[in-house]
Amino acid sequence: MSSSSNSSRVRVNMEYEPSVYCTCGLKAPICTSRESGKQFFGCQRWKDGNGCGFFRWKDDSARRGEGDHEQLKNLVVSMRGELEGLRELMQGRIVVVIVLVLMKICQQFPVKP
Ligand SMILES: [Zn+2]
Repeated sequence: MSSSSNSSRVRVNMEYEPSVYCTCGLKAPICTSRESGKQFFGCQRWKDGNGCGFFRWKDDSARRGEGDHEQLKNLVVSMRGELEGLRELMQGRIVVVIVLVLMKICQQFPVKP
């Protein structure tokens, strides 16, 4: 409290669980703004100026939602891939069926030169 009380408009707390890690791979401290009381995670190297710039508001429900959103996005992407594959497969089959039908028609009604 004594060393940096004049410059810190943010209270930093490292003692929390579960840990959130910044892009450096370091545990990101929970920072509490003295003005707004808002809490956020930040890269612990931000003061040194060589941090990764990690920043995330500490809002547990939003964070969980974000995770779900991310999972959902991945699911959609993978499903889209499967759908594309399926569509190509279907198109291939339809082409085969059309060719077979055309061949049958041609056999029944031979084109005279
Ligand atoms: Zn970092």
